[in-house]
Amino acid sequence: MYRGPIVVFVACLFAALYVLVAHAAPAAEPGSALQIAALPATTQVVDPAQVVHGPMDALFVPSHSAYTPNAVESERWYRLDTNADWQGETSPVLSFTGATYIRITVYAPPDYQPRALWFAQTEENSRFSRHRLAMELPHDLHAGQPIYVQIAADSFTRQIKPALTDLASYQSEDLNHVRLTTMFASVQVTMILAALCLWMVLRDRVLVYFIGYTTFQLMFQMLTSGEIYELPGGKLLVPLGTHAPWLFAALSTPLLVSFILEFCELRQITPTAAKILGWMRWPFLLAALLLCLPFAVRTHLLASSFNVWFMLTELWTLSTVVLAVSRHGRQARFFLIAWMPQVMFTLLRLSQVLLNLDQPRWLEYGYPFTMAFASIVVTIGLADASLRARRERDMAHHLADHDALTGVLNRRALVRRLNAAITEARLQKEPFALLFLDMDHFKSINDRFGHAVGDACLRAVVVAIAEELRPADWLGRYGGEEFIVGLPGASHDNAVAIGERIRKRIETLHVHSRGTTLQTTVSLGAASLDGPTDTADELLARADAALYRAKSDGRNRIVSHPPLAATGT
Ligand code: GH3
Ligand code: MG
Ligand code: MG
Repeated sequence: MYRGPIVVFVACLFAALYVLVAHAAPAAEPGSALQIAALPATTQVVDPAQVVHGPMDALFVPSHSAYTPNAVESERWYRLDTNADWQGETSPVLSFTGATYIRITVYAPPDYQPRALWFAQTEENSRFSRHRLAMELPHDLHAGQPIYVQIAADSFTRQIKPALTDLASYQSEDLNHVRLTTMFASVQVTMILAALCLWMVLRDRVLVYFIGYTTFQLMFQMLTSGEIYELPGGKLLVPLGTHAPWLFAALSTPLLVSFILEFCELRQITPTAAKILGWMRWPFLLAALLLCLPFAVRTHLLASSFNVWFMLTELWTLSTVVLAVSRHGRQARFFLIAWMPQVMFTLLRLSQVLLNLDQPRWLEYGYPFTMAFASIVVTIGLADASLRARRERDMAHHLADHDALTGVLNRRALVRRLNAAITEARLQKEPFALLFLDMDHFKSINDRFGHAVGDACLRAVVVAIAEELRPADWLGRYGGEEFIVGLPGASHDNAVAIGERIRKRIETLHVHSRGTTLQTTVSLGAASLDGPTDTADELLARADAALYRAKSDGRNRIVSHPPLAATGT
């Protein structure tokens, strides 16, 4: 019954985040008026002084591409030329898109001193976000003043796009970017905090996995957006350099898999596939270990195998979750909805890295957007799971305390209730009385009409008795066709009157079952709490004795055990 609003909420959430991304993501690429020329790849070390002072200019080959890609094996040199004097209102900003974790050194006018641009560093007075590697150039930049760029090698080739933009428009676009990335990170942080609060109370392992993988994913996201380096403690990540995002991806994945295994109940629903999935986690821990070694990430092989293994794990996980959904796994369905967009983006992004494709602009925000979306939906799923657990627990409690046939208290619960009622009556100095009720000739009902009719008769009698009681009274099944009614606050005479009312009610009751209509009667014994030393056992024994008298006096009647004070015992 609560499903409808959740579906609407999830759909609205997706739409809202989507609209936000679509509107806030900068529409246009930075305006570029740059002509690119590349120095042919060489294995010899190029002396920057030789390049910057012009003697090698003839060797630069004009490029028709708008990109200045790095290389895997060696550094690359590019010359950027402007074909006109700078006309902008404010100074030009030279920026490089797609240069995350690529070292770039710029030799620009007027002094052609080297200026290192590097993603993984802290900067005291940074003026730009890490969206791109960027630096301001002099306002009087004019045509014929080349800019030389040295781009370091890396494990992967990346399409790096240089551009010149007016400072004012660059900064306003940059602010937009920061707003978006901050918002997505905030959503993740909020979800982590909410899960942490839940965990402090519930101590559920699945929450630990959720907190773990979301935190590492958030770290990964903030590393690749670069904003983490300027946050308190971000300095600590600088020495890890390029290793850092790989390390957090390697740590988050096994936790994510553990979370999925537990949350989607895959071990119960799809045991074989879940077992394989469990094994698939280990290479990630090995990779995380290797990434902490200084030489590791330079090896292209490790990075590529990591990506391939990651994709295989994602695909296997996806198939297992889909299988679980087809076997009616409720949690699996939740997860699938939450995770689908993210899987799509991850696969898209990884295939781009592996195939060296250019990244479309929206993808950059699509990824954190799907992560934030997944966290929110998974959090709803966690709430749903704990609601279900609570219901199951309540059901178990109910079954443990109630009689399966009639639904009233069972013997164990009724004895507990009786003791509590006596304590309460003493404390409140109020009377308490008890009715012991046994159906007359019930065996013959069973014998004549069968057990099923006997059962129907028991249920009908219970309903009739319950209708004669006040909310504070309670009813329990003591044994076969014997019931106990507890009457808090009832005096001895009240109890006899209530018992008589019940007796009359049942006498006139017609039980319809299996084509027969039958009538039955009950005998009752009444007793009331008497004196400070009276116990539950004694009270029951007196009611039972009265019932015995009612039976021997001819049945269908109530006999009360006189209060002890009256009998003088
Ligand atoms: P009396 O008037 O002396 O109480 O006679 P009685 O036949 O009711 O007494 P007795 O205690 O000998 O019989 C109780 C019968 O209740 C025996 C048993 O078959 C029947 N009974 C006990 N539990 C159930 C039950 O859950 N369902 C049905 N249908 N019968 C039950
Ligand atoms: Mg009986
Ligand atoms: Mg009996």
